[in-house]
Amino acid sequence: MRYRELKRCNNQRVSEIALGCEGFMNKSAQEFKAMLDEAMELGVNFMDMYTPNPQFRDNMGAAIRGRRDKIVLQGHICAVWENGQYLRTRDLEKTKAGFEDQLCRLGTDYLDIGMIHYVDSESDLKEALNGGVIAYCKELKAAGKIRAIGLSSHNPLVARKAVETGDIDVLMFSVNAAYDMQPASEDCNDLWEPENYKNGLIGMNSDRKALYELCEREGVAIDVMKAFGGGDMLSAELSPFGVAFNEYQCIEYCLTRPGVVSVMAGCHSVDEIKKAVSYLEAPREERDYSLVLSRMEKFKFQGNCMYCGHCAPCSVGISVADVNKYLNLSLAQGEVPETVADHYKLLEHHASECISCKSCERNCPFGVEVVQKMKKAAEVFGY
Ligand code: SF4
Ligand code: SF4
Repeated sequence: MRYRELKRCNNQRVSEIALGCEGFMNKSAQEFKAMLDEAMELGVNFMDMYTPNPQFRDNMGAAIRGRRDKIVLQGHICAVWENGQYLRTRDLEKTKAGFEDQLCRLGTDYLDIGMIHYVDSESDLKEALNGGVIAYCKELKAAGKIRAIGLSSHNPLVARKAVETGDIDVLMFSVNAAYDMQPASEDCNDLWEPENYKNGLIGMNSDRKALYELCEREGVAIDVMKAFGGGDMLSAELSPFGVAFNEYQCIEYCLTRPGVVSVMAGCHSVDEIKKAVSYLEAPREERDYSLVLSRMEKFKFQGNCMYCGHCAPCSVGISVADVNKYLNLSLAQGEVPETVADHYKLLEHHASECISCKSCERNCPFGVEVVQKMKKAAEVFGY
């Protein structure tokens, strides 16, 4: 397993492949534990628990008994169980009762991340920020009942405003190559509405790109939901692009977006867990999403670095994807943030070493003018 840090959560290390909870629903306690055992055996140490379902929480509590410190739990605040079903609420009394129920059933006295559940509209964000939810989260954090405050969203503009408050440590966001082309919307159904793809699309949506860059700069960790678009991305018939990606390509796409630390894979069985984790051993050709993205007719990503790494190897060993990422982060900020400068410094080879051989440009499926980018990076970083 490979791990990345939750920078605003004491640099807690979380597995790149993490678990969503939907595949654990309606399982017996034994089946639940068997799936979690296998995942943890494979090095998975991070799980999202958006559901307030009592049976899920009881099963989870039983499955983690005696090893609470071995797993990073992301539980949702404002998702409660009412009349036998899930309810999203901003009602503070219900929210507080739901949180205490969560801790009690899990048999723990803290969550690593308390995630404000599903905020997609400006008005809902205002309510969450002004109606007491964020104040409650801060109280929980001060009391050690949550270690970090999170927020989940499908809307890059709302998510950005939330991150800009400075109160959000972790963002759960819907990421895949198709959604990344769509403009912001307060209705998440727009992300998979066929009408919104029928005329083709050009380039990654600038609000989404700006959100990922902001999170990377601010140390806000993104954990990904909908990496497979609910499975649609894996089917040529259902994918908005009309071509199928494989699981590895979807995961690699997400993990190469700035700010992303983990993909919450929605595994329904031990075999699906093994398949998701096998991404780490998959050959490069099977992970290379650029091959699919660059061959689509109606959808074009030309001209912008997608951080896919397809241009490697560089003649002098520069990691072109990393240099481009740090360059874009700095250009978006209008200066070189200290953390980005540090990351750049740690690279083994720097942009100034580029000999303009253009081998990378011949390999790049997206027509990126890499030599120009290296010159710009050498100017911006000074070497
Ligand atoms: S320059 Fe091209 S091939 Fe290299 S990482 Fe960027 S998009 Fe991929
Ligand atoms: S042009 Fe520069 S960055 Fe590209 S392969 Fe050659 S040396 Fe590396």
